[in-house]
Amino acid sequence: MPDLGNLQDPTPMDGLTFSNEEVLPKGGGTVERAGFVGLGIMGAAMARNLLAADCGLVVHNRTRAKAKGLAKHGAEVADSPGDVAMRSDIIITMLPGPPDVEEVVAGEGGLLEGAREGALIVDMSTSSPALARELSRTAKDRGVGMLDAPVSGGDVGAVEGTLSIMVGGDEEDFERARPLFEAMGKTVVHVGGSGSGQVVKACNQIVVALVIEAVSEALVLGSKAGVAPERIIEVLSGGLAASKVLEVKGEKFLSHDFGPGGKVEYHRKDLGIALAAGREHGAALPITAVVDQMFGALVAKGRGGWDHSALVTLLEEWSGDGAR
Ligand code: NAP
Repeated sequence: MPDLGNLQDPTPMDGLTFSNEEVLPKGGGTVERAGFVGLGIMGAAMARNLLAADCGLVVHNRTRAKAKGLAKHGAEVADSPGDVAMRSDIIITMLPGPPDVEEVVAGEGGLLEGAREGALIVDMSTSSPALARELSRTAKDRGVGMLDAPVSGGDVGAVEGTLSIMVGGDEEDFERARPLFEAMGKTVVHVGGSGSGQVVKACNQIVVALVIEAVSEALVLGSKAGVAPERIIEVLSGGLAASKVLEVKGEKFLSHDFGPGGKVEYHRKDLGIALAAGREHGAALPITAVVDQMFGALVAKGRGGWDHSALVTLLEEWSGDGAR
């Protein structure tokens, strides 16, 4: 696991200077100003990559102290989401989940209160497809565009600017936001109309959860049978069982240092979104439902704030002595 540093209060980046006047070029040679709401594990790193790409940035976080590090690098700090919207053309949100997204976008003092006609809201949180469609309609009624653009790649991908970004919404809005996406991610794909970015993210979260569960079962079996987990991870990583989960989370499985990362409670939220979408569309998701229950058990045990690789601890407990 690379040293992610203190993203909320980063050290100066050599050779980079920032100015509040610097803005992104738009298609026709005009310039646009970016705003960012939600500066947690992911948002702080993503906003920092926007600054490093010379974007003028207005930021806001509920706990204001989290904006301090970005302010040092030239970001303006705003008092509310509405204030961010008043000072920006394209506003990105990176919030915990659907209730927060709804409040920040459509609530009192929210983005839609402050946004100018022609502004564009880009929600990069993992949220629900139904809410994405609803907010997009509400925004459109006020002359504001909206994209759902959740990400995959974890905290490491956010820091390194290598996120995979799945975007739902109008093609024209996607092209308008593309320079921002390219500053934060490596794989940027317009997957369809409004809500489809969140559908694809739900698909992503099913795969990640089930792989974490499979790796956990493999490690517990290996330990019970007397094989060192580091040998299992090493050799699985070179064969058909290789995965990004093994690559990025392997160290956490070994050390049992479960500082997040992606939190158990957020992944459980994501599987809830996937199961609701499955019900809406008539898709059978039986194993997703089981892993959702397992994440629920971890939350009940007080491990909701742990990294999602902590799923292995549940299987270890179920398997008794020698499971680790
Ligand atoms: P996080 O560390 O909890 O950050 C969320 C941030 O949103 C916090 O700083 C929080 O502020 C802020 N916030 C919440 N409500 C707000 C409001 N009303 N106004 C302003 N700011 C508000 O979460 P994260 O790990 O960055 O994840 C963010 C999103 O990305 C989630 O949807 C998650 O599922 C998704 N995601 C996470 C990962 C990952 O590996 N972490 C990977 C891919 C996708 P406070 O400090 O006041 O709480």
